[in-house]
Amino acid sequence: MLDRLAEDRGLAEHSGIGLADFQRLIRDMYLEKDVARGVDGTFMWLMEEVGELAGALRHGSFEDKMGEFADVLAWLTTIANVVGVDLSEAVSRKYGSGCPGCGHLVCTCSLTEKP
Ligand SMILES: [Zn+2]
Repeated sequence: MLDRLAEDRGLAEHSGIGLADFQRLIRDMYLEKDVARGVDGTFMWLMEEVGELAGALRHGSFEDKMGEFADVLAWLTTIANVVGVDLSEAVSRKYGSGCPGCGHLVCTCSLTEKP
């Protein structure tokens, strides 16, 4: 279903790597170091990257934004690896059949509430 949405928006041809493959890649590259650092230290790196993304969204070039989105996703993925969460499964469970708030594929929740 998410693939279908991506196709509808013309994104499919740009998706070079899927979430499961990305999580495996990050696990292979970093798991040993991530486990040694632990969740707390790794979470701090994620927060630092979120701050850098905020800066890129405000003042950065498109390339800056691309890089910071990749970094935030990488650090988020790293934490999922440390605690044993399969991101594909998590995303599929929560968003795979629509908005968790209203249940629709195109969210109909009020703008004032968090879905
Ligand atoms: Zn909704």
